[in-house]
Amino acid sequence: MIAAADFNITKAEISKLNDINLENIPFGKYMTDHMLEVDYEDGEWKTPEIKPYQPLLIEPSLAAIHYGQSIFEGVKAYKNEAGEAFIFRPQDNFNRFNKSAERMQMPQIPEEIFIEGMKQLLRLDTNWIPAKADHALYIRPFMFSTDETIGVKPSEKYKFMIILSPTGPYYATPMRIYVEEQYVRAAPGGIGYAKAAGNYGASMYPTAQAKLKGYDQVLWTDAFEHKYVQECGTMNVVFIIGNKAITPDLSTGTILDGVTRDSVIVLLKQMGLEVEERALNIDEVIEAHKAGMLKEVFGTGTAATISLIKELRYKDYVMTFAVNQWTVAPTIKSLLNDIRYGKTDDTYGWMVKL
Ligand SMILES: *Cc1c(COP(=O)(O)O)cnc(C)c1O
Repeated sequence: MIAAADFNITKAEISKLNDINLENIPFGKYMTDHMLEVDYEDGEWKTPEIKPYQPLLIEPSLAAIHYGQSIFEGVKAYKNEAGEAFIFRPQDNFNRFNKSAERMQMPQIPEEIFIEGMKQLLRLDTNWIPAKADHALYIRPFMFSTDETIGVKPSEKYKFMIILSPTGPYYATPMRIYVEEQYVRAAPGGIGYAKAAGNYGASMYPTAQAKLKGYDQVLWTDAFEHKYVQECGTMNVVFIIGNKAITPDLSTGTILDGVTRDSVIVLLKQMGLEVEERALNIDEVIEAHKAGMLKEVFGTGTAATISLIKELRYKDYVMTFAVNQWTVAPTIKSLLNDIRYGKTDDTYGWMVKL
């Protein structure tokens, strides 16, 4: 077991924070002063290092580059009005990270490194957590294979790191979405439930094609029939039909088990909506739209929190929504924000104090 004292900590001599304006920062552009780095070798994790953010020196034969054993997480830290810092549900990201690791034949990361390391790192960079509505410090834990050989096999060496990036509102404007029927994000038996880098690589081309057609993102459908809705870009998706909230269930292994998705389900129930986690056919969505029952459609994820969908296109059928008249998504967003920014009691125990 790795105790706090077992981290090797080297502090940055000067903070870059003085040169950066934390207002209206583009997502993911700036990294904080420090990072965490730890290597896995000879079947064990070595001593984690927290040190100034800096480039890595890698061999061109680095296994991760060639064969894609690479996974990551996305977590956020917030500050309340008193200036106290909290992390949102890091334990859930930790559990999911190890599920991704297992699927990608990578070693499990101990909680002492993932959670305690994250806290230690954040304590050094707390000044980077913006104390402002819709702003947060994005936390990016990741792991990749580091064998220096181009032979195809699971790597024997790995590197786990955490980097931090201050962020403002993301995908702030409502999106136009294209229902994808040709390309597939995930198939049963594949790696859809893992937060693997390759899932993102594979989504870039179909997304670029949708952009050429004038859309912001795709709504993925299932691999066999291209009928059952899956996820919206890199977000989980929720449909409000009548008084019910419907979101695809996790049983097929093609849906990422989103922490925001889970939080939103809890809050939808708290609001009195009936929540159904089940297969949802696009034909049912269209029938609901024709009957005037399709009230709202939105994406959920750590980066964007809640993203409203103002247009959904399936073949030649275009559904448009007056998002400014919606009630559910904005309520969920403010309920979540009130918990995150400490404006209401955290009855679910989601906020972990630094
Ligand atoms: C990360 C991710 C999500 C959202 O998960 P959160 O835990 O809510 O951030 C949804 N879908 C995909 C494909 C993802 O990679």
